[in-house]
Amino acid sequence: MRSEHQSLLTSLLTQPTAPFREHHVIQWVTALLDQNAIPYFIDPIGNIVVGATSKTDFQRLLHAPSPEPVRVFIAHMNHPGFHGVRWLAPNVLRVRWHGGSPTKLLSGSRVWLSTAEGWAGEGVLRKVTLHPKGYAIGTAEVQVKMSQVAVLRPGAKSLFGGFQFRKPVWKSGAKLYTKAADDLVGVFCIVATALEVFAKCSQKNRPPFIGLLTRAEEVGLVGAVGHFELGWLQAASRAVICVSLEASRTLPGAVVGKGPIVRLGDRRTPFHADYSQVLTELAEQVLPKQHQRRIMDGGSCEGSAATAYGFPTIALAVPLGNYHNQGLEGGPDCRGHLGPAPEFVHLGDVEGLRQLCLALMQSQLSWYNPWRQVTARLQKNYSEYQKQL
Ligand SMILES: [Zn+2]
Repeated sequence: MRSEHQSLLTSLLTQPTAPFREHHVIQWVTALLDQNAIPYFIDPIGNIVVGATSKTDFQRLLHAPSPEPVRVFIAHMNHPGFHGVRWLAPNVLRVRWHGGSPTKLLSGSRVWLSTAEGWAGEGVLRKVTLHPKGYAIGTAEVQVKMSQVAVLRPGAKSLFGGFQFRKPVWKSGAKLYTKAADDLVGVFCIVATALEVFAKCSQKNRPPFIGLLTRAEEVGLVGAVGHFELGWLQAASRAVICVSLEASRTLPGAVVGKGPIVRLGDRRTPFHADYSQVLTELAEQVLPKQHQRRIMDGGSCEGSAATAYGFPTIALAVPLGNYHNQGLEGGPDCRGHLGPAPEFVHLGDVEGLRQLCLALMQSQLSWYNPWRQVTARLQKNYSEYQKQL
């Protein structure tokens, strides 16, 4: 990975985020887009739409006569975390958790706190109650470090947070450990692709690129669904392909360090067979023997929402260690099996993901004839065996 990309990724992974509390990621992304004169606007849900200056401009792209499908790359800007509910004592904050989480060794774990303005301090989890279904934290108390209480003037409800480790992000060998790779890695790849695609374009040859950076995915794909509910994409007169990008729980055949994953489906649904074939052939060309390919059914992603709304969808993922901060793979700063742990990704996998996003922007890919090579092979085989019929 180029050093400028590595520093961008590191800086993004440092941003605090939680469901409905994406302010810092939004500020980071929009500042970078402004610096590079890349068009974007904020949709009524609060998602960032990269690649168009307004709803009208977006519609112009969706109605431009062109055989090139508009690629709508989707990633989410949040990560599981908590919201402050009320102060129980001058240094004890009641919190409610949103999204997945570790379920063991929680009491005494370190957490960070932030407001919309910035980092607000650190605390320790106590009195944790799991969600009735047992898969994640429901509510807890955060004992805020006494020395920081004076700084923590903000009202309880303006505070949010998540698990804290030695640093928000650090590198060890080719791995990046962080409080939250899911799905800031996807956001990074979309922004890095936009930087490249828009650097080369002129007013006349506008790229068929949209980045949809969503909110509150972790509580049920809220930002993506809100966007689809607007009905803008459905009204397109031009072909649209959704491309879901995720950091996704490792599975057999989808391991950290072996390359990005052509995600054929998620827990809910397989994705578009024809366009997944285009992606499969592209991955073989761009990253021969350096990518993986499978149904990633460890979780569902925004690709299943796109599919449910009727959009042809393909997906890519980067293999993610310690998914949702659960100590599944262990490693540094892990409190023990299923206890809090930093998520980790491999820099080579992230770079591969970025390269595949860029490759998907090539013009004249075989969207309209994806099985040509496969049928040619089958026909050759058929004609060889025909005489034995
Ligand atoms: Zn997630």
